[in-house]
Amino acid sequence: MSTFQAPKGTYDLLPPHSATYLAVREAISAPLRNSGYGYIETPGFENVELFARGVGESTDIVTKEMYAFETKGGDRLALRPEGTASVLRAALEANLHKGGNLPVKLWYSGSYYRYERPQKGRYRHFSQVGAEAIGAEDPALDAELIILADQAYRSLGLRNFRILLNSLGDKECRPVYRAALQDFLRGLDLDDDTRRRVDINPLRVLDDKRESVRKQLTGAPALGDYLCEACKAYHEQVRELLTAAGVAFENDANLVRGLDYYTRTTFEFVHDGLGSQSAVGGGGRYDGLSEMIGGPALPSVGWALGVDRTVLALEAEGVTLDIPAATAVYAVPLGEEARRVLFAQVTALRKAGIATDFAFGGKGLKNAMKSANRSGARLALVAGERDLAEGVVQLKNLESGEQTAVPLDAVVDEVRRTLG
Ligand code: ATP
Ligand code: MG
Repeated sequence: MSTFQAPKGTYDLLPPHSATYLAVREAISAPLRNSGYGYIETPGFENVELFARGVGESTDIVTKEMYAFETKGGDRLALRPEGTASVLRAALEANLHKGGNLPVKLWYSGSYYRYERPQKGRYRHFSQVGAEAIGAEDPALDAELIILADQAYRSLGLRNFRILLNSLGDKECRPVYRAALQDFLRGLDLDDDTRRRVDINPLRVLDDKRESVRKQLTGAPALGDYLCEACKAYHEQVRELLTAAGVAFENDANLVRGLDYYTRTTFEFVHDGLGSQSAVGGGGRYDGLSEMIGGPALPSVGWALGVDRTVLALEAEGVTLDIPAATAVYAVPLGEEARRVLFAQVTALRKAGIATDFAFGGKGLKNAMKSANRSGARLALVAGERDLAEGVVQLKNLESGEQTAVPLDAVVDEVRRTLG
C-alpha cells in the first residue's frame, strides 16, 4: 500500500485480468480490420469548443461530464469524453475526405473521460473501441457497422445482448417533429432543468429515466409518424439489409441517445445482465456533424463499444475467453554457471517465438519451481552443474511431472516439438 490510491471512478487493469481487456479490444477491432477500416489515433485532449459544438451544448456530456481546463498557455482544452468529434476533426484536418475515396473508414481504441457518478459499469476513465465511416450516405454502410459490432460480440461468445434500432429523421422532417414534441412537452409538469431541455433539445427528454417524467410521456408524438419519405425508405433499407444478414434487432421508437449530432439511423447494443448500465455500445448516423465543426457536408455513421461494460457482460454470461498462458516455458538455473547458460537458452527460445520466463533473483529450487507453476508454463527448463557437465538441461513437463535430459543445442527444437 502506498499513500496514494487510484482516483475516484477509476481502476487499474492488472494481470491476469487485464488480458481479458486486451482480448476484448482485439475481438472488437478484428471485424473492422477485416472490412477496410484503418486505424486512427488522436490526442487524449482537444480544444473544448470541438466537443461543445460537436457533441452538443445541451448534452450531459458537455454540461456536466467534461473534464475541461485551461492550460498554462491559456488554451481551453478538455479530456476527450468520446471519439467521434476528434476522429472527424482529424480526418478533416488531414483532408482524408478529399482524394475522392469515400467513405473514409476508420477505427480507434482508447481511453475516454467523463466526470460521472461512479458505479458499476460507469467510470470516470473508461475504454472504447469505435468505428467511423465518413462521407457516404448509404444504408449498406449503416448496416455494415451494425453487422460488424454484432459479429464482434458474437465472436466473444456473448449471446444475451439486443440491438435497439430507430431513425431520428433528417433536417427535413426532424424540425417538424421537434416542434410538435415541444408543444406536447410544454403542457407537462416539469422541473426547470427539464423545461430548459425542452427548449434546447426536446428529444433528450424522451430519454429521461425518472418515473415522474416517464409517466407523463405516454401519448407523446412519435418520431416514426413524422419521418419524411426519404428517411422512411432509408430506414427500411437498413432494416432489410440487417434481416438479410441474419442480424436480429428491435425497433425502439424512444431510442434517442445522448449526443446532439445524430440523424437517421440510431442504434444501441444493450446487455440484459448489466442492471442499469445496460448499454454496452451505441452509435448512429451523424450527417450534420462535419458542418457543425466547420467542415463540408459529409454524411457519416459510426459506433463506439465500451470495453469495460463488454468485460462485465462476459462476466454476467459466465463466458471465459480462451487466453493462452502468458508463459509457456520457465527456466530454473541452479548455480552461477547454469544462470549464464540458461539465460542464453531463454533468449534463444524467445527469439524462436516461444513465450519464456526465467527465475530471476537467485531463487532456490523450491521457490523457483513454485514460480514456474504459478506462471502457467507447461514446461520447465532446469539445469545444475552436473547437467552442464554432461552438456544437457532437464526438460520437465509441469503437467505430467515427466523429465527428460535434452542436449543444449537441441533445446529450442525439443521445446517446440513438446509444445506442439
Ligand atoms: P449511458 O447511457 O450508459 O450513459 P452513453 O450513451 O453515455 O451511455 P456513449 O456515449 O454512447 O454512452 O458511449 C458508448 C459506450 O461507451 C456505452 O455504450 C458504454 O458501453 C461506454 N461508456 C459510456 N460512458 C461510460 C462510462 N462512464 N463508464 C464506462 N463505460 C462507458
Ligand atoms: Mg452517458
